[in-house]
Amino acid sequence: MQRLEVVGYLEERFPRVLAEEWDRTGLQVGTLQGPCRRVLVALDLALAHLPLLVGVDLVVVHHPLLFQPLEAVRPETPLGQKLRALLAAGTALYALHTPYDAAQGGLNDLLAAHLGLQGTRPLRPRGRLFKLVVYVPPSHEEAVAQALFRAGAGKIGKYGHCSFRTRGTGTFLPEEGAQPFLGAVGREEHVEEVRLETIVPEERVEGAVQAMLEAHPYEEVAYDVYPLAHRVGFHGLGRVGTLPAPVPAAALVQTFAERLGMEGPKAVFGPTERAVTRVAVCGGSAGDLVPAALQAQAELLLAGEMGYHRVQEAVEAGLTVALFGHAETERPFVGHVAQLLRERFPGLEVIQG
Ligand SMILES: [Zn+2]
Repeated sequence: MQRLEVVGYLEERFPRVLAEEWDRTGLQVGTLQGPCRRVLVALDLALAHLPLLVGVDLVVVHHPLLFQPLEAVRPETPLGQKLRALLAAGTALYALHTPYDAAQGGLNDLLAAHLGLQGTRPLRPRGRLFKLVVYVPPSHEEAVAQALFRAGAGKIGKYGHCSFRTRGTGTFLPEEGAQPFLGAVGREEHVEEVRLETIVPEERVEGAVQAMLEAHPYEEVAYDVYPLAHRVGFHGLGRVGTLPAPVPAAALVQTFAERLGMEGPKAVFGPTERAVTRVAVCGGSAGDLVPAALQAQAELLLAGEMGYHRVQEAVEAGLTVALFGHAETERPFVGHVAQLLRERFPGLEVIQG
């Protein structure tokens, strides 16, 4: 397969539009032109990985290799060595980072699944939703609706194929040179049409419009796409959800540590003897999400790392906080992305770094 196919698949799962504004994601070194036979998946590109790079076409990392603006590239620095090794081996480097954290089915959903949380939603929703409205003759209503659904439109929570349809009258006057599906040149037509409306996440708008136009019989299609101000998406940083039954905080913290392959948490603040049902989780750094966790009425927040003042703010407001380490909570990235690539591209050799 080609490098573009592999990256295209990752971007379909973890759309670039979900990146935080401050983030640096995507292709950072090399080119996506060319074949892809061997991929290295790692949390970071480490110096220890450099001897492996020969024969690796693509490195997929969680953390960007290039984050601060570059002022110099010098071979005696670790960054210089990494860049030189990548360029010399002709290896491309692609960083997933916050789109992977935020996407439905990404890091935070994995962590929430470790805890057995139900009814989860992001602590800080990300990704805009759009309303797509199209006017279609009744004969093609179903074909256009199905094309839209196949392209990812019409999903709300656990419901698919969501749409609203109203019948009305459309008017048009075909001008000289037109080849109308209905009516004739020079005569104003009044025809029955269906106003078909549905919802589309930002990253699917282009594909949905394309699919809609292909299924629509008209030469010129009347449609609207407009952004929605509310956020009912499923993407975003952190997750909050509910346990099916109350569990002592200390026991849940221990279970989570074991799921991460750790003996226990790195630190716990606040009461641990009480039973909790409302739980928030965030991989990596979670300080910014304390207000959202409090607003969501979480009793326990499990995270990678948080600054002293944020922990204090959380504990004083009644939240129990358990920290497991930044990399420790993001480590599931490696096995997860490697598994996705192996399933999607059986011929691809995937190395876990
Ligand atoms: Zn991180």
